[in-house]
Amino acid sequence: MIFIRTRACIKCKQYVPIHPGNRENKVKVNNFEENHQGHTIVTLELEEIKGEYANAVAEPDEKTASMQA
Ligand SMILES: [Zn+2]
Repeated sequence: MIFIRTRACIKCKQYVPIHPGNRENKVKVNNFEENHQGHTIVTLELEEIKGEYANAVAEPDEKTASMQA
């Protein structure tokens, strides 16, 4: 079983999945942390937050961009 860790903002109920070694993902995680500065950001397993939190990086244009890359 693969556990995916996420950075999650408790205040906004949003998360970003962490993919170690993925440079593009690292940027997204950093951006997420910047966007949620001053909020409470925690590291959680994706399994723990599924359904309750929204994926902060699952925006339509971003998805298209990564599919083209
Ligand atoms: Zn937040």
